[in-house]
Amino acid sequence: MIDFVRRLRAGSGKASNQMGDDGSSKELKERLTSTQYEVTQRAGTEPAFSGEFWNLKDEGMYKCVVCGEDLFGSDTKFDSGSGWPSFYKPTEGAPIAEEDDRKFGMVRTEVKCGKCDAHLGHVFPDGPQPTGQRYCINSAALAFDEAE
Ligand SMILES: [Zn+2]
Repeated sequence: MIDFVRRLRAGSGKASNQMGDDGSSKELKERLTSTQYEVTQRAGTEPAFSGEFWNLKDEGMYKCVVCGEDLFGSDTKFDSGSGWPSFYKPTEGAPIAEEDDRKFGMVRTEVKCGKCDAHLGHVFPDGPQPTGQRYCINSAALAFDEAE
């Protein structure tokens, strides 16, 4: 997995055009579903209640679908009613990056994987305690590892 990440980074480092068909984006297109690609590489949003994980209550770890980093634990997942998987905080040590997103005339905070730059979703300040944060994440950006 570490080798894979290294290759991915080397590939994207060379590419000057994000949307170009350099090796890494071609590889990703083949490996990911079209929804996973649209969400993680083009900052898309899956329709509410359409994803694999919004209603999943199993115990385990949600990982970045692109690079496999641990991002959110099921112990911080809560039912937000939004139709997207929602967490009140990232797991310890998760490489979460947050950026201002001013698309669509709104100011929101975009959440990305700090390791591979995949778009994950947005974070809103209306979550439950103890953090008050609501990480609203696309199922398509996540892979689930069930706890044993
Ligand atoms: Zn990632």
